[in-house]
Parts: sequence; C-alpha cells; structure tokens
Amino acid sequence: MSSLSRADRITIAHVCQDWAPNYYNGPFNFSIDNTVRYLADGHLEALTDRHGRDTIWRAVAAHLAAHPHTLTAPRTTQALRDQRRAERDARAAAHLDAARDHHRRDLPYEALALIDRAELRSPSFDNFDRFRASVHRKFPPYPPTNLAGTELRYRHTLPLARPTAPVAFHGALEQQWVYPGRQVIVGPWPAPTPEQCTAVEQDGLWLDEETALVCPGCGLDMT
Ligand SMILES: [Zn+2]
Repeated sequence: MSSLSRADRITIAHVCQDWAPNYYNGPFNFSIDNTVRYLADGHLEALTDRHGRDTIWRAVAAHLAAHPHTLTAPRTTQALRDQRRAERDARAAAHLDAARDHHRRDLPYEALALIDRAELRSPSFDNFDRFRASVHRKFPPYPPTNLAGTELRYRHTLPLARPTAPVAFHGALEQQWVYPGRQVIVGPWPAPTPEQCTAVEQDGLWLDEETALVCPGCGLDMT
C-alpha cells in the first residue's frame, strides 16, 4: 500500500465536490457509507488501482468527515461539472505555460515548482511527470546546481504551525474551501486557526521578502 500524494488528495477532493451531493443529497438519499462506495468505485478507479480499495475508501470517508458541507451542498449538473473542470484545466494550463517559459530561460527550479502547481490545480489535466522529465533532461540533478544568480528564493525562515488536523476550511462565516495540504505560518494572528478566522475578505500579507502570501487573520498560506 502506498501513501497518497497531494495530487491524489486533490483528485479525491474534486470528485467529492463534484459528485458527493448527487449521491447523498440526491433522489436516492444514499447513506454516507454508500456515498463513499459510489465515489470511490465509480469515480476514482485509477487511484483505487494504484493504492487499493481500502485506502481510497478511507481517504474519501475522511475527506467527507472533514468537509461535511460537501455532502449537503446543492446537487451538481453536468454543465457545472464541465465548467469546474474547464476552470481547473485553464489554471493548470496557465501554470504549465509559465513553467515552459521558465524552462526556456534556464530556470529549472521555478519550472519544477510551476509544474507542481499545475498538477495541484488539475491532477488529470496532463502527464506532469513528462514535463518534469524534460526539465531533468536539460538540467540533470547531479552535480548540484550552483544557485548563485538564479531567482530562486527559499522560504526556510518561515516557521510552520504543527496542526493537529488538516485545515478544514477558511473563515468562521464563509467556510471557504481550502486545498488539501495548505499550511499555516506561525505568527501573532488574531485567530488561532483558519477555521476561526474572520479576516477572509482582506488582502493577503506578503512575508519573507515577498515569497509568501498569508492571510493576515490566521496565517494561512495563500501563496
Ligand atoms: Zn484567515
């Protein structure tokens, strides 16, 4: 059994967002267990093949438990699901374009970071490992690259909060959906956690020489 990557978890989140209300909140009023079964077996075959049915069932159940509003949201239509997919794909395509541009300008680290970002926007949009491989072909990982003169800036100075659970949502009132794996930067924020934040409508705050954008109310990383 292998562990799920961030992209795998985002795939699960997208499937839950797109389909969970139609099973749980639909004409048949499926139980949560049956909803999990339909989501995992009907919409996550590739992940189930790779990680095993048990792992995916548990991951789907955990996602729904952490995001109960996903179950009770209004049902989705094919048009809405198509629109969401088109938006995810457009963002991934934009990140890949930027990655190609950085690759051409001999900025491999930026290119790889942008490929990661594209994959997290829409994990099924393209074969992202193919793009990573072409960066590694042009810039073999060994010997270590001399970073002097590149635009790369590390964010090692920012301490991360060690949460007891993943961020469930952002904002006490808005309860905005948060991509799985988002982290919280330690700081003197008014709210102790993103779930209790009341600053979600405000602009982000740039930290660490403008390499990290966080919510000024809770420190949620929004970069
Ligand atoms: Zn916040």
